Amino acid sequence: AIDAVPLRRGPDGTPEHILVLVRDITSEQERLEQLEQFAATVAHDLQGPIAGVIGWAETGLDQLDADGPEVRTELGNTFGRIQRSARRAQRLINDLLGYASARTAPVAPAPVDLDALVDALTQELLERHPDPAAAITRDRLGTVRADAAMMRQVLGNLLGNALKYAHPERSARVHVGAARRDGQLVLEVSDNGIGVPRDQRELIFDAFHRVAGSGSVSGTGLGLAICAQAVARHGGTIAVTDRADGPGSTFVVTLPDQQRPDPVRTGTPTAS
Ligand code: ADP
Repeated sequence: AIDAVPLRRGPDGTPEHILVLVRDITSEQERLEQLEQFAATVAHDLQGPIAGVIGWAETGLDQLDADGPEVRTELGNTFGRIQRSARRAQRLINDLLGYASARTAPVAPAPVDLDALVDALTQELLERHPDPAAAITRDRLGTVRADAAMMRQVLGNLLGNALKYAHPERSARVHVGAARRDGQLVLEVSDNGIGVPRDQRELIFDAFHRVAGSGSVSGTGLGLAICAQAVARHGGTIAVTDRADGPGSTFVVTLPDQQRPDPVRTGTPTAS
């Protein structure tokens, strides 16, 4: 906003000196959005260089392997550390981009086959899980009208966490259940892991919040914030409770269960 205040007027009343006030009326909200946009741009631009570091570390490891196991030891350890650090940076970048897109990308609802989605995620996650006894099971979940990419993020993060925060003394057992009531789809992801302390149950959905002691498990503190954003943008909710039938947690996601037909397919059916 620009205001002009006459400070001194001449004999005929015309202003001779004017004080011009320029006020920055950018709201807090706009500032936050600018900051988020900036973080997303930086994260996006860091993708290339980090991929380069990971690639070069891998090339170094391959070259050492070609020279025989005895050469690998010291230098191999160094390359291994570079690779792990760069992968951590890569996870942070991916999560920052995921968070930005969960907050601002347009929601494109279409029917999502939840059974197929959970099966695909299960395969992906268990393939690279260190404990071969870890398992993910599910009820019949059906479909929901939602943004497919966002649903993948929500379920991927919840299932990933359920495996990641397993109790050290038992193999992870994860179950995905679904119920439909009062126009809502209620999805429950239950695990037999370490559980979430009562006083942390709201905080864990904030960006960058991690429960003290989770430090030994690598993470960015953004996964559940991404879930909360994506679910909220569908008009749904997310919360965590104790698992009903034993130690562990249950993450409960509710989504409006709209069974509207896909707009592309509406219209008079044509004979084929
Ligand atoms: P990250 O896993 O990257 O730290 P998240 O936002 O996904 O970030 O989770 C935030 C915190 O919530 C985690 O650091 C962990 O302390 C806790 N948490 C998340 N999921 C579970 C779970 N299934 N069981 C126990 N604790 C969990």
